[in-house]
Amino acid sequence: LAKVRAMLRIVALQQDIHEAHRQLKELSTLDGLTGIPNRRHFDEVLDREWRRAMRQGDELAILMCDIDFFKLYNDTFGHQAGDECLCKVAQALTSTMDRGGDLLARYGGEEFVAVLPGTSLSGASHVAAQMRKAVNDLALEHPGSPVGHVTASFGVASAVAMPETNPQDIVGAADRALYKAKNAGRNRVFQTSSLDPE
Ligand code: GH3
Ligand code: MG
Ligand code: MG
Repeated sequence: LAKVRAMLRIVALQQDIHEAHRQLKELSTLDGLTGIPNRRHFDEVLDREWRRAMRQGDELAILMCDIDFFKLYNDTFGHQAGDECLCKVAQALTSTMDRGGDLLARYGGEEFVAVLPGTSLSGASHVAAQMRKAVNDLALEHPGSPVGHVTASFGVASAVAMPETNPQDIVGAADRALYKAKNAGRNRVFQTSSLDPE
């Protein structure tokens, strides 16, 4: 009987360890505030998807998103309200993702990034347009914004994976497109097929 009890204790301990391991893994891949995947997880997935795309000679698209006038939002309502706003935007962005291989992550601050494997530039722009609308439709009051509510700008880039290209080049291109969307007046999507920094 003592032996059986000892064995049962071992089994229970193993289950505890297993559960703790699962929780640790989840914590290390998710963003603490919004609960969506974090930057580190994004980097891992991008690396994996890039190698897969290269094997298959496939396209890969990157989408960058940045909340408009977010500093003003914090200044108006405070950082706690800002944090709540970030969570709502993250949920709105996530709600538009319906393809299995797609991943949306918090890139940092009020910036989000998505990796869309096997997706063309026009396909990725379509996803970004839906995301822009989803954030707009939240209609979160923002007196500091010209339209009176929270909006976000988007940059999209796509390329066929080649050995001489680096996945970070697509991220850089999407970031430059985002910068153009900001300069053109915000609350819009810009796309680029060029990976060359101009
Ligand atoms: P733009 O339209 O050009 O993007 O203007 P912006 O104000 O959104 O951009 P800027 O980069 O000047 O400010 C980003 C702000 O995002 C600064 C910081 O107060 C806020 N921010 C970044 N991370 C967090 C966070 O985790 N919580 C909160 N509440 N605010 C954050
Ligand atoms: Mg920013
Ligand atoms: Mg911003």
